[in-house]
Amino acid sequence: MRGERGGYGRGGPRRWSGGPVERGEDLGAPSASGRAQGGGDAERLRAALLGMDGSGYGRYRSLTGRWRFDGFELAVEHVQADPYAPPSRLSLEVPASVAGFDAGLWRDPVRARALADLLARRAAEALAGSRFRVDAGGQEVLARSACAVREGAVRLRFAVELPGHGRRIAGREAARQLCELLPAAVASSLRAQALPAEEVRAFADTVSDSVAAREQLAERGLVAFVADGSVLPRRSGVSDLPLTGPGAVPFAAPEPLRVELELPHRGRVAGMGVPEGITLIVGGGFHGKSTLLHALERGVYDHVPGDGRELVVTRADAVKIRAEEGRRVERTDISAFVGELPSGADTRDFRTDNASGSTSQAAAIVEAVEAGARVLLVDEDTTATNLMIRDARMQALVAPDREPLTPFVDLVRPLRRSHGVSCVLVMGASGDYFDVADQVVLLDAYRPHDVTAAARALAAPRDDAPFPAVAHRAPDPGSISAQARGRRRIKGRGTDALVFGETEIDLRALEQLVDPSQVPGLGLALTALVRRGHLDGHRTLAAALDLLDAELAEGPDALDDGYLGDFAPPRRHDTAAALNRLRTLRVARQSR
Ligand code: ADP
Ligand code: MG
Repeated sequence: MRGERGGYGRGGPRRWSGGPVERGEDLGAPSASGRAQGGGDAERLRAALLGMDGSGYGRYRSLTGRWRFDGFELAVEHVQADPYAPPSRLSLEVPASVAGFDAGLWRDPVRARALADLLARRAAEALAGSRFRVDAGGQEVLARSACAVREGAVRLRFAVELPGHGRRIAGREAARQLCELLPAAVASSLRAQALPAEEVRAFADTVSDSVAAREQLAERGLVAFVADGSVLPRRSGVSDLPLTGPGAVPFAAPEPLRVELELPHRGRVAGMGVPEGITLIVGGGFHGKSTLLHALERGVYDHVPGDGRELVVTRADAVKIRAEEGRRVERTDISAFVGELPSGADTRDFRTDNASGSTSQAAAIVEAVEAGARVLLVDEDTTATNLMIRDARMQALVAPDREPLTPFVDLVRPLRRSHGVSCVLVMGASGDYFDVADQVVLLDAYRPHDVTAAARALAAPRDDAPFPAVAHRAPDPGSISAQARGRRRIKGRGTDALVFGETEIDLRALEQLVDPSQVPGLGLALTALVRRGHLDGHRTLAAALDLLDAELAEGPDALDDGYLGDFAPPRRHDTAAALNRLRTLRVARQSR
């Protein structure tokens, strides 16, 4: 067996192909135990670690390089300087012949992504309670730097806090972690023979069905699909797990919106198709409107089996819009929504460090369309009322020339007509949108009903306002820097904020960011846009994002420039949204 694995059983640590690697004098010596042949470098590593016990912590540096273990190769890429520094970074690769996964699980890139996601979860579980940290996902299945499966070979990237007694090396504990716990975890989590084949296949099937369903939406003229039987509510405000028990009402499509999709594994699946155009979700308070919209927001991602939203899918160009008082806006044309301001500011080239509820929401809509969004998701709970509606009595009281705002209700149809943008809108508090809706779904005790005809009977004619061409902006790359005091600084704070160079980008309004690892991914995407010259002061943001998307089609490594941490590539819309909230951003040119 060992002979077949060629290169994994014997020989000393290989050097990085990129250049010589420093290593300590004691590591070249044969291990004292004489067991080196059997365990490859593992025994040499153990001997080295035991030999370092009690030495100064800095001596861990000599571990840098590659170590051949029985069945995988470990690379020590970056060693922390002291026990209090960010953890050391390692990676390992299990060759295809050892991993043993069927080609049916990785030949297709979607299934390879699913398998990698699952293996990261299993490795994280196997290493729980150890000093190793594997970045694994929650309810969404994402491409992430932590694990990749290529041609059947599994690469895992992870962190370890190398143990110390104060600033002295705890060699025995390090040897236990690296030479015992790690190999055991690799054997029990990254090999086909250690995992239930049925579960692995079901995981990949679930993800490929979800992708297939999403891909069918555009050609079917749909923006989203919610399969019958889906469970949308979550356990609590702080848990993303599905609500269980008799109280959870599974989704059942209302008849006129019922469609069937044909999926590669599940076969024919029925559910609600949300058509393109303007869809209104109405109903009394607490009847499940926001829960449905949240599920649609998350439908741009694939979900793990058992989540309840495995077959709730939304087109990739769907963007959640909300008001966000206090945010920055840089040279955005919000003139469709906001006419002359009392301050005299030009709303065709609008800039503020402190947007109001309505101007922030207007900017969010225009920016989303600029970045390529063709579906907007809007919930009354998080909007600025004065941007959404203005009723007849208020129009009678406040003269039109004293009101700079054109409400969204007068712009949603022009937005659709002129820019092909659909909208799914939760609005339980005002019937104004009956005038413009193409379909109206009523939620009654979590059960959807089509009430389009009844709503239409109550609709009144409404004059549209024009929606001008969307301004395309060319950001100035010189205004986007992750450098802080001569070093790069990219760090996430959960999904709330990105520390980016000298500034911090507030991400709390980006409701479609779902995973903390997407946040450093945003920082890397922003630097990649600048470093690769995609943003050059002339190219529009949308065109630059197209270039980055093409690179990301090859996988998360497109963002990897030696970053010492885990990340997941963000969606282009979130990259744009983060850039739009960067307080140093300057736009060089605006064009139509
Ligand atoms: P709305 O936006 O209509 O006011 P929400 O979507 O906020 O209502 O839902 C109100 C409550 O009902 C939430 O606690 C939510 O978890 C729960 N809920 C939503 N959908 C369902 C469902 N299908 N089954 C059981 N509970 C649900
Ligand atoms: Mg609500």
